[in-house]
Amino acid sequence: VPATRKPRLGISACLLGRRVRWDGGHRRDAFCAEVLDPLVEWVPVCPEVELGLGIPRPPIRLTGRSEAPRLVVDGSGEDLTARMQAFAEARVEALVALDLSGWITKRDSPSCGMAQVPVHDPRGGPAVRDGVGAFLRVLMARLPHLPVEEEGRLADPLLRERFMARVLDRARRAP
Ligand code: SF4
Repeated sequence: VPATRKPRLGISACLLGRRVRWDGGHRRDAFCAEVLDPLVEWVPVCPEVELGLGIPRPPIRLTGRSEAPRLVVDGSGEDLTARMQAFAEARVEALVALDLSGWITKRDSPSCGMAQVPVHDPRGGPAVRDGVGAFLRVLMARLPHLPVEEEGRLADPLLRERFMARVLDRARRAP
């Protein structure tokens, strides 16, 4: 690795302050947008916007079985599962070529969440927090050794240190 090359990290675009959320807002995360920003090269991705859902857009949710949840639009019930799967497979394949050293993702998102995303019961029962976002599921399956963390967990100094150590180690070994 050339000494000058910064680790390249994928990130949920809303965490960098981009106004890509369903309601036109963002979820700027200070650690990412201020502390890490000068040290890394970002590859921001908003799966829902890139899928063409627009800003603003109706919120979407995971529903059904946690092992294979459906991704549906709130209210209309439109099923986006197949569309997101096809998009994610193609997008992740393009990301593989970028030799990413890590990924920071937005917690609780039906597209970006890494773990414990609410999966809703279509019959109206309580949601179960054991889902994985529809885009992240494809990313983590294709790149199982990629260090992935959520912005919320990175507030923990120990988890942050472990994540950054894995990122730097992977960056050193990148071609
Ligand atoms: S959580 Fe993911 S899909 Fe939702 S706004 Fe942020 S980047 Fe886009």
